[in-house]
Parts: sequence; C-alpha cells; structure tokens
Amino acid sequence: MGVLRMGYVHAKVTDLEEAKQHYGSTMGLYETRSEPGRVFYKGWDEWDHHSVVLEEGGVGLAKIGYKVADAGDIEIYEKRAEQFGCTVQRMAAGENPEVSDGIRITLPSRHELELYHDMTLVGTEVGTINPDVFPRHLIGVGAPRVEHALLATDDVRLADRFFCEVLDFYATERVQTSLDDDCGYIGTWLSAGNQVHDIAFIDGPPGKLHHFAFQLKDWAEILRAGQLFAMDDVSVDIGPTQHGITRGETIYFFDPAGNRNEVFAGGYFSYPDRPTHVWTPDQLAKGIFYVQRELNDRFTTVFT
Ligand code: FE
Repeated sequence: MGVLRMGYVHAKVTDLEEAKQHYGSTMGLYETRSEPGRVFYKGWDEWDHHSVVLEEGGVGLAKIGYKVADAGDIEIYEKRAEQFGCTVQRMAAGENPEVSDGIRITLPSRHELELYHDMTLVGTEVGTINPDVFPRHLIGVGAPRVEHALLATDDVRLADRFFCEVLDFYATERVQTSLDDDCGYIGTWLSAGNQVHDIAFIDGPPGKLHHFAFQLKDWAEILRAGQLFAMDDVSVDIGPTQHGITRGETIYFFDPAGNRNEVFAGGYFSYPDRPTHVWTPDQLAKGIFYVQRELNDRFTTVFT
C-alpha cells in the first residue's frame, strides 16, 4: 500500500506548438496522445500512458498526480485528507484520459493533487524481454522519466505535516528557521520511498510551481543536456551544478511558456528511518547550490 511515485505533471503553457518543440524535440519525450489544446507525453523508461500533460492557456501547474499501489489506498487517503481538513473530491475513471478513478485533494498549499491507482500500460520501446539498456533513436535529451516537483507555499511546515501524516511520506531534508522543535520551515524535501525526494515545498506564493524535474543518469548526461540547451536556445536558469540538499546534480531551465524545468541526476538512496538532514537559513545558498553558495534572484523569485 501507499504512494508509489509522482505519476504526472499537468502544466499550462501559453503556446502548444512552442511547448511541443521543447518537450518533444529538446527533452525527447514521446507523444502518446494529442487533442485540441492538449498534448500528453511520457519518457522512454516510463511504462504508463503519460507523465506530462500540457494544456494551452496560461502558465503554471494545473494539477499533479501521484500513483498509489492499490485501489483500496484511495479510500484510506480520502478519509485521512478529510480528517486533516482538506477538500477532497472523487474523480471518475476517464476524467483524465487513460487514468483510473481516484481522488482530487486541494492541498493546504492550494495545489490540486490527484491520487489514482491505475493508468493504461503502454510499455516502452525496449520492452521487458531481454531489454536493451536504452532505445537506439532517442531524440534530444531523451529524458527517461519525470522525477519530482518543487511547489511553493506560505506554510511549508503544514505542507510537510500533510504529506507525512496523510500520505506516509517522510522528510529527507529540511531548511528550518532554527534548530528548535517549534521552528518554522523554509523548505522541505519529502520522499515516499527510496528516492531522495518525490515532492518538495519551499516558502513562496501558494498554489505556484517552482519546477518539475526529469531524471537523468549521471553528471555526463547533465552536461550533455546543457549542450542541447545551447543548441536549441533553451533559457537556462542555472547550472550545471550540484545541490547540497539531496546532493543531486542539476540544471534549471525554462520551457517557452516560462515554467521552470530541471534535469536531475544522483541524489542519495534514502529510507524512512534515516535521520532528516537539517539546514539552517545562513547555509541556505550552499544547500541549494553547493558549488556557487549563492542564490540568484531568478531562482528565488520566479514561480509560475
Ligand atoms: Fe528539483
């Protein structure tokens, strides 16, 4: 039982054709469905029908979906979220194309979170029988999968509590206002399994997106992504560099609508009984950008 992973990010974009260039040609996602005003994508190593949905009209996050292991989990999380004080709606199968029934929770951070237990399995090019290690004709970055999202909220501690108490996540890293037990949180990085994070929150305008991330294998792939961003004139926020928090290697960049993306590699193997790393505000810049130890204005002020 439990939350398995971030299944999909449903983002808004100002121009679908421009977005398709970015997510299709530069990031190398596979288009799995197209309809007027919307396009669905998955990464090469993702088995379910889609992991990115782009909708024309505006910018930012429409909603985010997390897959749970069993249909029975839905009811458990529905009750817990209601007890926590959240608005919870049932969603029917097919309301999201190729996605099962589930629930839609309005988070304390004002983001819409959907939990679902099934999505149409479309498989991958390499398949399951004697699979090659990657498909031969990947395009651009050839991102294998989406990995996590960082969202903004005006009460990080409440977001942390929701994910830990309601959805059985645990915090791998926190930036705290102090080391006191009753301190506030400036940021929290939360895991549902063994990834260093499956979702994270930082202090900022509630309901807004800071970024969503694609997983890459290693530092060499991060640099190669940066080279492709230069070739395709992708707007880069910062990187390649490394985080102190999560220890991941990274580039932040923007899609044509202005939504921030990340390519992320590394990050340590985590588990629920591993003590949480705590960062103090004076070390925030080192936590975020370990090498430069300096935050740029764009990184702390641009949300969509
Ligand atoms: Fe990230």
